[in-house]
Amino acid sequence: MTTQILESKYCDPDNTKEILEELSKCATIGDVNLLIKRVFPDWQVAVFSKFCTGYPHLNSNWNILCSRIGVEPTQVLVVRELSFEDNHTLLRTFVECLTRSGFAVRRMSDYIPCSKCSSIAVPTPQIHELMKEKGVQVPDINIPTCYACRS
Ligand SMILES: [Zn+2]
Repeated sequence: MTTQILESKYCDPDNTKEILEELSKCATIGDVNLLIKRVFPDWQVAVFSKFCTGYPHLNSNWNILCSRIGVEPTQVLVVRELSFEDNHTLLRTFVECLTRSGFAVRRMSDYIPCSKCSSIAVPTPQIHELMKEKGVQVPDINIPTCYACRS
């Protein structure tokens, strides 16, 4: 569960229309990123090369999505909050831009950095349980270390 305070932080600002206009003029994903950092400075938390391979569906779903869009997977981007509410149009548009550039955008309550290599996104216990319930392949236990770093 996320708190109301966190959610409201990334609500559409008063100048959303102008920002969307500015976004439409961004030529590269680098420009988009600069705009995102200006509008929501603390939204992006961390980037990872990929998901933990102990959860094979995560990387394969991401690869499938990217090939449908026609881009190469770039990075897993972990953000403070994702919202699908009406007053988060700008946030959703940013996520869409990032997704179309090959990023897998996930919320920080769901993924943490591997405790050893720090470059792989490892599911939190909460999402591990959720995946297990859905019947997808997960490691027997959820530890904060990626599958490749476990010895
Ligand atoms: Zn690792």
